[in-house]
Amino acid sequence: NTKQSVTVIGLGPMGQAMAGAFLDRDYDVTVWNRTPSRADALVGRGAVRAPSVAEALAAHELVVLSLTDYDAMYATLEPASAALAGRTLVNLSSDTPEKAREAARWAAARGAVQLTGGVTVPPAGIGRAESSTFYSGPREVFDRHRAALEVITGRTDHRGEDPGLAALMYQIGMVMFWTSMLSYWQAIALAHANGLTAADILPHAVETAESLPGFLSFYAERIDAGRHVGDVDRLAMGTASVEHVLHTNADAGVDTTLPATVVELFRRGMDAGHTGDSFSSLVELMRKR
Ligand code: NDP
Repeated sequence: NTKQSVTVIGLGPMGQAMAGAFLDRDYDVTVWNRTPSRADALVGRGAVRAPSVAEALAAHELVVLSLTDYDAMYATLEPASAALAGRTLVNLSSDTPEKAREAARWAAARGAVQLTGGVTVPPAGIGRAESSTFYSGPREVFDRHRAALEVITGRTDHRGEDPGLAALMYQIGMVMFWTSMLSYWQAIALAHANGLTAADILPHAVETAESLPGFLSFYAERIDAGRHVGDVDRLAMGTASVEHVLHTNADAGVDTTLPATVVELFRRGMDAGHTGDSFSSLVELMRKR
């Protein structure tokens, strides 16, 4: 039997999409999930429901993990750890870089190897050629399983041997994603309070978001050079501006947690003597441990 095969453990929206993508490519797919009924639709499409985690691990060498976090992985795999020897664990669960490193050592001590992955798309992007995932861990393992990894997302990128690196890149993306989306919720709350809908402000919101990449590259070079010269923007101007944002939100009676926190950071920069520097100088405050 030369058919390619994979076990998928964890059938939330992501794991279901992944197992589905493997079925679409005619893989032998074994699945396991704590709540067994989440496998029903996949079984209907030809997946095999393993009766236990140990049997799911025994079924195939390649094991994709799509769980809420690494604690869920220990809760799932620990009782079946005798079945881990010789397995490749592709862990696509979100967690801290340190948790990913610890788990790689935990797997190695049980004769398994872990590849850490950070998926950059929601469930609808799984199985698509243009979607991407970055990986870290042993290069040889990545190369050996590349065809299978490309079923999950068409684009794959091995970033390095450190099993924590992919988790770090993932969290770097997520700190931007969550805070950016919260800023969008804030904008919508402000719009609603003023009789405008999310649809009304959508073109303006998109235009604002599309202006960001230019700012990212402009400041990256300066920040790496430690150059916070206030030639195009000054923190004093920025502070006045974010105070206008805070007051506009307060006047509208919407939640001010987010704008108030922004004002607080800007004021700390002023207190630290950065009044005439660019607001990029805030990075110096923020990177302090
Ligand atoms: P969910 O949290 O919805 O599902 C995760 C799975 O984890 C479920 O199968 C759940 O089992 C299982 N699980 C949770 N706790 C335990 C436990 N203690 N023991 C056993 N199983 C457990 O996540 P998603 O499918 O949405 O995502 C999976 C991972 O991918 C997450 O780490 C997420 O951060 C990441 N991710 C998600 C994206 C998305 O858009 N959804 C995008 C990119 C990454 P049960 O069904 O029994 O509850």
